[in-house]
Amino acid sequence: VSGLPQPATGGMARPSGTAGNLEVLDWAGFKAAVSWTFDDSQPSQIAHYAELEAVGVPMTFYISTGNSTESGYDATWSQAIADGHEIGDHTVHHCKSDLTGCSFGTPLSALTDEIDQASSYIAQHYPAQGTAWTAASPFGDTGYDTPDQTRFLVNRGVPGGMIGTGAGDNTNPFNLPIHLAAQGETAAMFNAASDTAHAGGKWLIFLVHSITPTTATWYNPVAITDVTAAMSYDKSLTDVWTDTVVAIAAYWRAEKLFATLTPASSGGSTTWTWTLPAHFPPGKYLRVKVDGGTLTQGGGGAALPWDDHGYYEVALDPGTLTLSP
Ligand SMILES: [Zn+2]
Repeated sequence: VSGLPQPATGGMARPSGTAGNLEVLDWAGFKAAVSWTFDDSQPSQIAHYAELEAVGVPMTFYISTGNSTESGYDATWSQAIADGHEIGDHTVHHCKSDLTGCSFGTPLSALTDEIDQASSYIAQHYPAQGTAWTAASPFGDTGYDTPDQTRFLVNRGVPGGMIGTGAGDNTNPFNLPIHLAAQGETAAMFNAASDTAHAGGKWLIFLVHSITPTTATWYNPVAITDVTAAMSYDKSLTDVWTDTVVAIAAYWRAEKLFATLTPASSGGSTTWTWTLPAHFPPGKYLRVKVDGGTLTQGGGGAALPWDDHGYYEVALDPGTLTLSP
């Protein structure tokens, strides 16, 4: 129903105990999560797109629309969306937040124009996606964090680190941390980072710039064979959720929202109600489990079906969930 990937382990019986103890599963029921992000809409990413796509892992490309005259630009990003990948906002001219040091031409007159016109380009040229749900700050400049709060679900920065769940995690959704691919970094080094995320139950976001072989080495080049080997390694970890930033961020933010709710009790039933934050993509779900009882959404709604991978899938758009004996 949700479109979320299924964990490998199935055959779990529907809990038949007392209605109660609702728990949201971290990372959609996986142990950890990984996203692969590629910045700047670089020529080497366009040149190697087919090899990246062939791995079969959803990716996020943060594009700067000031370099849209590059060969293959619109065709590649349109195809990426058709293939299930995400296109995110990396501004028009890739400037620092004071509008100096621009990578692609002359800046617009306002920082917000740099952000908004890139989103408009994405909406107009790639209608199959339309909205740019997430952004990445050029140069990791934290001056983008505040304007992005009123425009996007999350903003990816460049601080080193990984993202957790629960009360112990205080990651800023508008400066998400990364593992930056260093020049010449090998698959073994990427895989070690994935192993750390896997063991710790964290969300790891890789950031890749130039991909070799290429004649357009812009920044921190890494070999296509190392990138695809590392992506394949993540795919092979069946209890790791590897997906786009928007997919994992929506789950992560919704789980945090759910943790803040105080349910109402009435006639033996318990009801949670919520309002999604602005710029939250439609059609998203959380996975929950309970000790027993029946879950419904909305008045008179049908009982949510148990999935034998160990959860019920709760649609976020209705804004309500009821647990009854
Ligand atoms: Zn960049």
